[in-house]
Amino acid sequence: MNYMQQLPSIYLQGHPMPSSNIAIIGAGIAGITAARTLKAAGHSVQVFEKSRGSGGRLASKRSEMGRINLGTQAFSSDDPLFLEELHAWQQVGWVQQHHSAGQTYWTGVPYMSALTRQLLGDLNTDFSCHIQRLSHDSRGWLLHEQNDRAHGPFQQLIIAIPAPQASALLNSCAPELAHQADSVKVQPVWMVALGFKQPLTHNTNIKCPSNQAIADITVTPLSAEHPMQTWMLRARADWSSKHLENQHDDVIDALRSAFSDLLDSPLPLHDSAFAHRWRYALGALKQPTTALYEQQRGLYVAGDWCGSGDVYSAWHSGKNAAQQLLDHLHCTTIAHL
Ligand SMILES: Cc1cc2nc3c(=O)[nH]c(=O)nc-3n(C[C@H](O)[C@H](O)[C@H](O)COP(=O)(O)OP(=O)(O)OC[C@H]3O[C@@H](n4cnc5c(N)ncnc54)[C@H](O)[C@@H]3O)c2cc1C
Repeated sequence: MNYMQQLPSIYLQGHPMPSSNIAIIGAGIAGITAARTLKAAGHSVQVFEKSRGSGGRLASKRSEMGRINLGTQAFSSDDPLFLEELHAWQQVGWVQQHHSAGQTYWTGVPYMSALTRQLLGDLNTDFSCHIQRLSHDSRGWLLHEQNDRAHGPFQQLIIAIPAPQASALLNSCAPELAHQADSVKVQPVWMVALGFKQPLTHNTNIKCPSNQAIADITVTPLSAEHPMQTWMLRARADWSSKHLENQHDDVIDALRSAFSDLLDSPLPLHDSAFAHRWRYALGALKQPTTALYEQQRGLYVAGDWCGSGDVYSAWHSGKNAAQQLLDHLHCTTIAHL
């Protein structure tokens, strides 16, 4: 099923398509999914993203080790609609499947942020645009940057960013929604990449006991794109909270040492290393929903934290926020016919 097939049938039966100018804050998987859904329904959408590229927690970074995924290394889902979408993306070469311990995992091709770039396609996106404040009046929503440069007015707004950042934006204009975002306990995560020109020969299926600093390890083998074998160490959330303000070099040393303990053998010197801190990595509402909204004012809030705090939830939330918006526009249009 494609996006157009999922639209309310009235849009497809020759009724006038309501056209609305819509802003989306955040070019992670939630914001991009919302934008694609709305664009497919014929709406004009403008995406605002504070970073220089798309992906959010599906970001990748160019390094001496090759392109490295900084956040999610792989994701899974058993939702039939998401799987249908993933298979469609696989057909065009945007994702690939991996199988491990009876579970299917998906990764972006050739890396995670490439997937989000493909999904973003030619959607209008303002990168390096950090929205610091929102205001709303009879003309719609204005989005303000730090220098008080304002974008808008937009009739509809979808905020698709982590809960603490959403709360900060919503505080002055939608305190009820801000309160819900505030209730999410978001945990940080430190990631450390260690690169070895001479690959380690250890078994790559390493168990990480729960009393250890490391929660998860992913290995990228040597290849034309990866001049070093790369071990990506994800620290546990509680360990990351405790060491949140540590220097990057200290975090590399600590996780390297924890890694060596897990291997139960001394580790040769690495050829390259970096640490990345995700201040807002993982977290979700206690009572999962799909998206939050104030439809009368055209305000929608999406993100992984509206569901279970994973890639699937982000996709589902973005899709749902867009669908709620379309349903509302549809009702408004019918009321005016
Ligand atoms: C280390 C790590 C490991 C993970 N592992 C897994 C896993 O194994 N499986 C899984 O399913 N999920 C995993 N996740 C979670 C998954 O990455 C997220 O659930 C998902 O990517 C969130 O998507 P999102 O669109 O909701 O938010 P984000 O990806 O956070 O996107 C939000 C975007 O909004 C932008 N933004 C924020 N504030 C503003 C602003 N004021 N103005 C403009 N732009 C703004 C940000 O720069 C970002 O690009 C992991 C996450 C991390 C960090």
